[in-house]
Amino acid sequence: MRDPERSFSVFNPATGQTVAEVPDAGPAEIDRAIAAAHRTFGDWSGTTAYRRAELLRDAYALMMERKEALAKVMTEEQGKPLKAARNEVQYAADFFLWYAEEARRIYGSTIPAPRADQRFIVAHQPVGVVGAITPWNYPSSMITRKVAPALAAGCTVVVKPAEQTPLSAIEIFKILDEVGVPNGVANLITTSDPIPVGEAFTTDPRIQKITFTGSTEVGRVLGAAAGRSLKRVSMELGGHAPFVVFPDADPVHAAKGASLVKFLNTGQACISPNRMYVHRSIVEEFTSVLADRVEKLVAGNGLMEGVSVGPLVDEPSVAKVERQVADAVGKGADLVTGGRRLLEGGLDRGFFFAPTVLAGVGEGMEIYREETFGPVAPIVPFDDEDSVLKAANDTRYGLAAYVYTNDLSTAVRMFEGLRFGIIGINDINPTAAAAPFGGMGDSGLGREGGQEGIAEYLETKLGGFSIR
Ligand code: ADP
Repeated sequence: MRDPERSFSVFNPATGQTVAEVPDAGPAEIDRAIAAAHRTFGDWSGTTAYRRAELLRDAYALMMERKEALAKVMTEEQGKPLKAARNEVQYAADFFLWYAEEARRIYGSTIPAPRADQRFIVAHQPVGVVGAITPWNYPSSMITRKVAPALAAGCTVVVKPAEQTPLSAIEIFKILDEVGVPNGVANLITTSDPIPVGEAFTTDPRIQKITFTGSTEVGRVLGAAAGRSLKRVSMELGGHAPFVVFPDADPVHAAKGASLVKFLNTGQACISPNRMYVHRSIVEEFTSVLADRVEKLVAGNGLMEGVSVGPLVDEPSVAKVERQVADAVGKGADLVTGGRRLLEGGLDRGFFFAPTVLAGVGEGMEIYREETFGPVAPIVPFDDEDSVLKAANDTRYGLAAYVYTNDLSTAVRMFEGLRFGIIGINDINPTAAAAPFGGMGDSGLGREGGQEGIAEYLETKLGGFSIR
């Protein structure tokens, strides 16, 4: 039995205050959740796609109905401004709707067989029980992006959200329960200690697949463990996105795009630009427009009107940003604006860092290679297309890349040449429930969203039929 005393606190990163206490699951609860998912798999995978679609559509509708309350919970536990939280709730709900539609389109195929008396039929079936681990930066959408396709495919799931942001997860699971997803099909474990969950997901024979979104470091550990038991794996990990502005692009428009995408979620996104390569002929104008916009950003508690940038998630995150900025400035980068912790007006109770622009960033600085996950825009001047393509690709990561150009040929060459899973061409928001999201190299394995996203939860089965 669960010890009712065992719980952990969730903090508001803007104020340091406790928002709630949630149950702190241990090995017994983890085992119970896996057992429930295992027990219900047979029935759930046997429901019609029409029924599964209906439940997912209802979950979408209920999320929409509760949008404001869900957004508020997210802002309180994660810190992002309320407007951004509303956008995320919408994005999160979109996965329920999209996969409600996809559930009914899990098509198979027939293949001409080599013998006259033979028939080949290809069918897709759910992989089984799925263990999912999600991060704190997008507390709702990272859950629905896994749960919606898994349920649509006929899989049952056990989800462990990040310990910093379990409240959005709890609300989403309440919705699944209220719309009538059968008991035991979708299971939530909130815990302050992720390690036993990772161990169970990667070793328990009742689990067939693990899907993880988080750091490359943890992804590597889980991937290696899952490899030993040959479980199917999807991983969405870190990134180090290049943002390339060619001389034919409008530097004002590009700087506007840069300010919008870089400071989204206070830079705590795996698709956040981490190297802004700007052609030398326009770098001054780009930098000055970007700095003007950045200076107008208002950092603060996301629940307050007019706040455009929230806090970082915790103290080590602020310390990391501070270290990267100090390292860059020490090696010759120019601090254009920001560059310090924000402590005034009560911000010292949270984890705030001033939106920052660094010019003259180059190889050899930590920020040039290491993911920042914070509100710093590092600008790197470049001279020609070949060298910038090579520099942009010179990273272990391969998630998102952005290009600003009005030249069609440049756009095509960059789209084809960049070794990244998501390329925004004059577009800072190349994401949607309908579009495949995921990376190459150290950014992960597999795709989420789109048609590809449901394939991750399906096995392919070939039937060879001999007829007389
Ligand atoms: P971040 O640096 O973004 O916090 P993490 O990879 O540490 O990324 O965390 C992402 C998710 O992975 C969270 O849900 C966290 O609890 C979980 N996690 C962290 N370490 C482990 C581990 N050793 N095993 C399983 N899950 C883990």
